[in-house]
Amino acid sequence: MPVHKTEKVTGWGNYPVVESFTGSIRSAGDVQQALEQYNLVPRGLGRSYGDQAINDHNFVGDCTHMNYFMDWNEQEGILECGAGASLEEIITAFAPKGWLPMICPGTKFVTIGGAIANDIHGKAHHTDGSFVNCVLSFNILLADGRIVTASRDEHPDLFWANFGGLGLLGVILTARIKLRKIETTYFKQKSIKIKTWTTCWRPWTLTTTSITTPWPG
Ligand SMILES: Cc1cc2nc3c(=O)[nH]c(=O)nc-3n(C[C@H](O)[C@H](O)[C@H](O)COP(=O)(O)OP(=O)(O)OC[C@H]3O[C@@H](n4cnc5c(N)ncnc54)[C@H](O)[C@@H]3O)c2cc1C
Repeated sequence: MPVHKTEKVTGWGNYPVVESFTGSIRSAGDVQQALEQYNLVPRGLGRSYGDQAINDHNFVGDCTHMNYFMDWNEQEGILECGAGASLEEIITAFAPKGWLPMICPGTKFVTIGGAIANDIHGKAHHTDGSFVNCVLSFNILLADGRIVTASRDEHPDLFWANFGGLGLLGVILTARIKLRKIETTYFKQKSIKIKTWTTCWRPWTLTTTSITTPWPG
């Protein structure tokens, strides 16, 4: 059984606040033992604004210790890592080698498990899509104790359902994700001053590039 305590838990929006049993999930064995006594909600870095990662008077499993890197394919830019690895940890390790996560939200303090469960998006959502577009496969521990690999070809229903599945379909243990090759961590920005709300939409609709697209306003 993972070491656990009772504490008040909430999301990034600080509402609602509930009392939960909390403990670290470091392996599939920890999840299986917790499930013998409780129902369980996995939690990453708690950056969700709502109530996704809390569990009133039940178990919240902190997955951030599953933050290991298991395999790196430099040719393909494919990283296999624990679901508790954060984008911040990936950026710190891989940006100096010329690689970044393909999809980055407004904070780098999110785990791969949380990114999948909420199918997060970045500021280039309109061109790059959401987090699913960089995930090749993941291993998930289901409520019946089985560990299953899900991808577009293997258990595809399970694969797709987990993007936006809010951690309710199992605990994601590891994932294989594709990183983006970069030349630099700086980016080009073009600022366009606008006079009125109406004129602001003209440059916006004419610009089609992703990261360099100015946000109106
Ligand atoms: C400042 C700020 C800016 C943000 N900007 C954006 C943005 O631009 N775009 C965007 O899409 N989101 C954004 N977010 C929201 C954030 O990206 C998501 O809420 C993200 O899912 C948080 O990841 P987390 O690791 O903190 O997960 P948590 O908040 O801890 O959990 C999120 C969900 O993931 C599940 N989960 C966690 N780990 C696992 C696991 N191992 N297996 C299965 N399920 C798991 C939880 O049960 C829960 O349902 C922002 C949040 C903040 C605070």
